[in-house]
Amino acid sequence: MTTTVDWIAQRIKKDQIERYLDHGRDFIPDDAIWQKINDAREPAPEAVREILSRSLAVQTLTPDDLAMLIRVQDPGMLREMQEAALAVKKKVYDNRIVTFAPLYMGNYCVNNCAYCGFRHDNAEAKRRVLSMDEVRKETENLAGKIGHKRIIAVYGEHPMTGIDYILESMKTIYDVRVPTKHGYGNIRRINVNAAPMSVEELTQLRDGGLGTYQVFQETYHHETYAKLHPHGTLKSDYRWRLYAMHRAMEAGVDDVGIGVLFGLYDWRFEVMALLYHAIALESRMGIGPHTVSFPRLEPALNAAYATQSPYRVTDEDFKKIILLVRLAIPYTGMIITARETAQVRRDALLLGITQTDASTKIGIGGYSEARQDQQAERQQFMLGDTRSLDELVRDFADLGHITSFCTAGYRCGRTGKCIMELLRSGKEGKFCKLNAVLTFQEWLDDFATPGTREAGLKVMEKELEEIKKNNPQGFPAFYQFLERVRKGERDLFL
Ligand code: SAM
Ligand code: SF4
Repeated sequence: MTTTVDWIAQRIKKDQIERYLDHGRDFIPDDAIWQKINDAREPAPEAVREILSRSLAVQTLTPDDLAMLIRVQDPGMLREMQEAALAVKKKVYDNRIVTFAPLYMGNYCVNNCAYCGFRHDNAEAKRRVLSMDEVRKETENLAGKIGHKRIIAVYGEHPMTGIDYILESMKTIYDVRVPTKHGYGNIRRINVNAAPMSVEELTQLRDGGLGTYQVFQETYHHETYAKLHPHGTLKSDYRWRLYAMHRAMEAGVDDVGIGVLFGLYDWRFEVMALLYHAIALESRMGIGPHTVSFPRLEPALNAAYATQSPYRVTDEDFKKIILLVRLAIPYTGMIITARETAQVRRDALLLGITQTDASTKIGIGGYSEARQDQQAERQQFMLGDTRSLDELVRDFADLGHITSFCTAGYRCGRTGKCIMELLRSGKEGKFCKLNAVLTFQEWLDDFATPGTREAGLKVMEKELEEIKKNNPQGFPAFYQFLERVRKGERDLFL
């Protein structure tokens, strides 16, 4: 039997790091990044507008462009940047917001990240891994009662939740199908947030129906990374983590999600580094990140750095971060989570966020077990927004946004290079609007409370008008699909 020590010893495949290095160097040059930030001066309005014109043409910005945008203080120019960010989002993603739920599978972990409640040395954490029966029950609630169609499955790094467990849990989730008022509910896309894996494991995940593979670098700053991830732990290998997405793409996983845990180090450096990561993926693998996530450091049980970090990010800076990433990597999806308050999430939506979670529970077993879900000792960190999916859909509808439950992307081949081209040309937004409407109708019929249904149908009216106007030839065929959904057919996509 493999012990935990043996398991750890076999995890990191050095050759799967070294083949990506450039003369022994990785793609985050700390000193050069700081130099760019320090050398940049507040740009003149014409220079800002020239940069924004490239964002609006869905071109990835250069690090020098971004360093200049970081410097902008002028309120008028900041307003222009916000308008451009929203215009970019509209062009690429229209007024859709995609929703999902996190599903925490277990909190055993061999690592000791200074900011996380799951860390190995936290003796106060109550440890648990969901059995497959429990995974099924959690899924039944998510898909049958709340109406989620996509989840992000979250795993600690531990042999109990290694690749075999991940694959088995994905199969269990995909197999659940729950009767609803007018049809059935099921999870149609599983994204995974788990520790870095080898190309071989990532190939298995791809074959198991993986949606997006998500790994956050936490901090890209080498020295800070070393300080927060103690030497000798698996996670202390910065480069094993940094090249996780290169390996994923090598394994044929087209959709990868990168992110920073904002609050661990200076946000200006981290935003620049996210851009370096996107550029490294684009130039080496031909595709940039499918999503960028913006977790912000929250208090966590028995994890002092989470409250003591000198780099904690204010709401104002947090919104600026979102704005800058929307402009710098204009094609990427952007995810904000329920760590944030309702107001921050609303503001972020208008700066270019494209995905968010709802009805979120991060206690292990939290969707199916009746108990105090916000119990700190079971959780990794505390949530800022515990609103239900129904409340969120209504809120977004009042802001004129349609909540999309579309999961067609990877099932109809719209991933990777194909989707990058659609995104860059602004076609994806229009195309996916149709599927967004179909899935929104499905959700409104099966799960919405009367008030939310009414608010949702109002937005739908407007969407239908737009589709009819912009795509008169395609409209009749699309409308037939919509009628079929209204009659109870489920999971139709174009
Ligand atoms: N163990 C895997 C890993 O570290 O990649 C994945 C699971 S971990 C639970 C998922 C993410 O939670 C981490 O990548 C980190 O960014 C975030 N996280 C950890 N501690 C946090 C805290 N105190 N506040 C907010 N987010 C936190
Ligand atoms: Fe483990 Fe991930 Fe938490 Fe670090 S962030 S302690 S690796 S669960």
